[in-house]
Amino acid sequence: MCRPLPPRRLGLTVVAGIAFAATVAAAPAGAAPITGFAAESAAQQRAYERAYARGVSAESIGRTSRRLSRRPQLIDTPGVRRAERISVQKLRGYGLDVSTPDYSVYASRPEKIEITMTAPEKLTLSSKEKAFPWHRDFDEVVDGYNAYSPSGDVSGELVYANFGLPEDYEALDELGVSVAGKIVLVRYGGSFRGVKAQQAELRGAKGLLIYSDPEDDGSGKGPVYPDGPWRPADGIQRGSIQYIFNYPGDPLTPGVPALAGTPRLDPADAGNLPGIPTSPISYGDAEPLLKALDGPVAPEAFQGGLGLVYHVGPGGTTVRMNLDIAYEQMPVSNVLAQIRGSSKPKEKVVVGAHYDGWTYGTSDNTSGWTAVMEIGHSLGRLLKRGWRPERTIVLAGWDGEEYGLLGSTEWAEQYERDLRRNAVAYSNLDGAGGFEFAAAGVPQLDDALVELTKSVQDPRTGKPVYDVWTADGTEEPEIGRLGSGSDYTAFLDHIGVPSLEAGFTNDASAGTYHSAYDDTYNMEEHLDPGYLGHAGSSLVTGTMALRLANADILPFRYSDYAAAVVSYVEELQGIQQEEGAAQLDLSGLLSAVERWGDAAAALEARADSLLASGYVSRRRAARINRALMRQERALTTPQGLPGRPWFRHQVYAPGLVTGYAAQFLPGLRDAVEQGDEETAATYRGLLLESLREAARLARRGARA
Ligand SMILES: [Zn+2]
Repeated sequence: MCRPLPPRRLGLTVVAGIAFAATVAAAPAGAAPITGFAAESAAQQRAYERAYARGVSAESIGRTSRRLSRRPQLIDTPGVRRAERISVQKLRGYGLDVSTPDYSVYASRPEKIEITMTAPEKLTLSSKEKAFPWHRDFDEVVDGYNAYSPSGDVSGELVYANFGLPEDYEALDELGVSVAGKIVLVRYGGSFRGVKAQQAELRGAKGLLIYSDPEDDGSGKGPVYPDGPWRPADGIQRGSIQYIFNYPGDPLTPGVPALAGTPRLDPADAGNLPGIPTSPISYGDAEPLLKALDGPVAPEAFQGGLGLVYHVGPGGTTVRMNLDIAYEQMPVSNVLAQIRGSSKPKEKVVVGAHYDGWTYGTSDNTSGWTAVMEIGHSLGRLLKRGWRPERTIVLAGWDGEEYGLLGSTEWAEQYERDLRRNAVAYSNLDGAGGFEFAAAGVPQLDDALVELTKSVQDPRTGKPVYDVWTADGTEEPEIGRLGSGSDYTAFLDHIGVPSLEAGFTNDASAGTYHSAYDDTYNMEEHLDPGYLGHAGSSLVTGTMALRLANADILPFRYSDYAAAVVSYVEELQGIQQEEGAAQLDLSGLLSAVERWGDAAAALEARADSLLASGYVSRRRAARINRALMRQERALTTPQGLPGRPWFRHQVYAPGLVTGYAAQFLPGLRDAVEQGDEETAATYRGLLLESLREAARLARRGARA
């Protein structure tokens, strides 16, 4: 599933590809303090981190990546079982304790994908890319299709609706064009594809085609595969259209693990299954459809990179979509490797990446998973030498992510109680190769992340990761906030586990995203030559896991969280100025956030002074850590968000009309925007309670 089109960035640092760095150099020694560590434990931690860094090898990652991505790894295929077997074998070989908890989920398989232009001439669209000589088992590359689309055989006139965002349909309204009873053609970008399907369904469309415009990730961006990394005319972006913004995971068991004895919903009652036949197509195939389309000329914002004047229709082009999609129970099997903590074994730092993929999946997500496995490789060597983290580190390979975060969601639902009590943090890697560094996460980890990137070296340039992060001249490194689209969702949004995703990326990975061309060739030639970005991701994520696992006092700065929430409340006050918004007083919220910020700052000062004194008793540290762990949990509410109770976090959730991007203060904000004063007041009350509870926890920690 992974990311939407990445934000456009200028000033890309281009460094000549180095074939292979045998072993990644260790970070320079330093006596600098580390937040959360007393002086003595900081010195030990530095030594641990240096030893860890010496064990991370780009060459080892490359070998594993090539092996895993030799064959497609789609859910419930021999290829994904092979990837599981290899992963288990490798992790056990590293000396780790491995288990493979599995679930039975309701999922789709394409039997026949047949899309035809029926007028002005008959033309059958292709459902798959062409193979190159280096592609093995190409028959196992699944046809271009959208997981969880219903079956159907629909025909009708085509209407083009740009990205399929609400404002695009408004623009069509102004032109007097309705999509009711039509087949809608939209392009990828701007929102999660499941949101596109829902928006079309809501407006009465009978089918939806989604294509990749060359302006967004194809020839308009640069040389196309195999000459460059960008999408060629026949590249198809597969992907799930599950309504993950309602709830992710198995459609039939929301909130509970999809185990053998778990009662299932009737599929007709499932709340995250889309309603109209939907299919992706390439821009090579979208071109004749758009060329023949009549009707008004599309607005400027709708025009794309096909070198023709886009019209919105209807008229000129008619299409038939004949989709035969089978639904059945399928197994998903996670791969979990555990490194038991020495002094606080119950407390857990979870590091995860999905190992399933749409096709060869070298970027999405063999890159993330091999980077996580390499953490296990290095930590396994250290285990043998007697190094053991204080808290338990769990390395997780998730199955079924591409269909709807299936493996991670079911696991988190199964172990919810334990995670609620004992999870320190969840760190995700989804797409972990490239030249640039990017990060997103909860605000209390911002400082720890920035601090860490100053001491971890980028294997490609030999410079601190921080320098790469800020190479485009930005003074403050940019840290995004998490919406949805990858496996942190259940941890953060459902349970309130502080989550982050930090690693190397390449914007150009969008060009082969979910196509047959996401392969080793593209990775080694274009995206991450030498796998050095992979190794950098292992270094950053692994070092962060070690800091969180070993910290005397967790380096959580909730004062930063409170400051972020203040800005969200202020933003919401701005939205209240808009027409139709619900009017209610938010000043009480602002003062509650400020009180939380003050209490959090007092706790941080207390922690720093205890650490500076060189000694913190175990009991006192445990009390403070509990107060720190529980503040994020306090931001969740058992009743969940309006209309989507699975989402319990009150500060972050996937946006209802974006799906990937984070919506701030979702319950309250959606209600304010919809002018629903009653719901807005309810969620203002719930948020207020959460903020007060967080402040109470912070004060308790400060008194410990
Ligand atoms: Zn992914």
